Amino acid sequence: MISGIIGFLVKYNSIFPKSKISLRIMAEIDLQKIVSHCKEYGFIFPSSEIYDNLGAVYDYGPFGVELKNQIKEYWWKSMVQMHENIVGIDAAIFMHPTTWKASGHVDSFSDPLIDNKDSKKRYRADVLLEEKIDKLKEKGEKELAKKNLSQASEEEKVKASRDYAKGLALEEAYKQAAEAADFKRYKELIEEYEIVCEVSGSKNWTDVRQFNLMFNTQLGSVSEESNTIYLRPETAQGIFVNFLNVQKTARMKIPFGIAQIGKAFRNEIVARQFIFRMREFEQMEMQFFVRPGTQKEWFDKWKQTRLKWHLALGTSPEKLRFHVHEKLAHYADAAEDIQFRFPIGFKELEGIHSRTDFDLSEHQKYSGKKLQYFDSELNQNYVPYVIETSIGLDRMFLRVMSDALKEETLENGETRTVLNIPPALAPIKVAVLPLVKKDGLPEKAREIINTLKFVGRTFYEEKDSIGKRYRRMDAIGTPYCITVDHQTLEDNTVTIRERDTMQQDRIAISEIEKIVGSKVDMNNLLRKALEH
Ligand code: ATP
Repeated sequence: MISGIIGFLVKYNSIFPKSKISLRIMAEIDLQKIVSHCKEYGFIFPSSEIYDNLGAVYDYGPFGVELKNQIKEYWWKSMVQMHENIVGIDAAIFMHPTTWKASGHVDSFSDPLIDNKDSKKRYRADVLLEEKIDKLKEKGEKELAKKNLSQASEEEKVKASRDYAKGLALEEAYKQAAEAADFKRYKELIEEYEIVCEVSGSKNWTDVRQFNLMFNTQLGSVSEESNTIYLRPETAQGIFVNFLNVQKTARMKIPFGIAQIGKAFRNEIVARQFIFRMREFEQMEMQFFVRPGTQKEWFDKWKQTRLKWHLALGTSPEKLRFHVHEKLAHYADAAEDIQFRFPIGFKELEGIHSRTDFDLSEHQKYSGKKLQYFDSELNQNYVPYVIETSIGLDRMFLRVMSDALKEETLENGETRTVLNIPPALAPIKVAVLPLVKKDGLPEKAREIINTLKFVGRTFYEEKDSIGKRYRRMDAIGTPYCITVDHQTLEDNTVTIRERDTMQQDRIAISEIEKIVGSKVDMNNLLRKALEH
């Protein structure tokens, strides 16, 4: 069958001259370019824009919502449907307020904030310190590379580079302060290492204060303290409180997982990196319940499984790395992030946490209800340990965009903007374009589009020159364009143009569904993500 398709491709020539691309990528795409592309092409709009926006809240447009849904599908299928021992739930956003007392969020889900008195700009003190550490170490490493000392011992490195030594010293001091939750020390370090405000350039800082990130609201009509409830800051707790309901009804045996995709809300202090840090966002989380003592093994396994999921998208491995948490959250005995090289640098994309039995034990304590599992192999009751994989859907969206958006220079000197996202994630799978708006070509194009509904979302467009229409489809990542011309009316063939190579070939209408369908099939990604 495949040789039949190839034969057809070879037999017919393109009706348009083939334009080749030089593979030179013009410039690194910066965040601002992504923001404007997302707005211009209907992916993401600032929330309530006609009222001058709401800070760090965004709306997804027609193409954005399609892409977001495909990312969800990729995650859900590979994490839930394709694992016999993982099931899903969809818990409510509002939860009993005691949930958040038990989980530790009421007392400690806060960020240390600091203001610059001159510019009035607010920062996260931990972020200021971490950025300073990175800067010093990076500068130091460059110096060491110049002196050919990159592979030298730590001791030699410290001697050879003042910046490297300062970076290490600050890292150690910050680690100690973080472990002791000593925020006075944070301020001392900010002053000692001469961190300045990027707006005023001054070192005139306030004290560091703790700021709880949970949004609260009132349940019912009486505004008393006892009616205060929270908008969930993570989806995980909805899974923990349902642990036994799910385990019993889905007849799950340890090890098993519970997953969900849902909204989470955080009143972020510093929220100005587009959808990287939002106040309302969506998480895709999976809690995997294991026998106490086996958590390390499962932690390593999930780290590798999740990395493979990311690599299956075709991302270059240099753009992904693990980052070990220096400061562990109160509930964790191990934690690593998968970081991605965003246009704003390497940043957390996904967290993989070994959460011990903390959450279930706390809910047991606060609710007075047993949350234990009877392990028939061990003939023993215990509170399971938990490995969590947690990724922000919106942050994943930004990662896909950052990886895919390119400005290319063509052989004829023209440039084009192309979004070469994996075809399975593309918002539009195929566009059908009549060459001209007359002579029965629009009708023929409509006829063709009707046969393609099952490959995914299609797009019809007849306005503007064919070149302009191709460019618009490139910019939203459409893998294929089908052009209908006068020859189509004679012999039922069309031109198919592939997004990345811009290669054009003449094929029979009857072949379109097979060619496009096999390219955009989500199973291509799933197979790669799950292969052993
Ligand atoms: P960060 O250190 O960036 O604040 P975090 O460690 O608090 O993140 P987690 O609580 O582990 O994040 O949340 C899991 C995932 O949820 C993160 O890896 C990220 O992808 C996503 N996420 C967290 N906060 C936000 C946010 N404000 N906006 C968008 N995505 C977020």
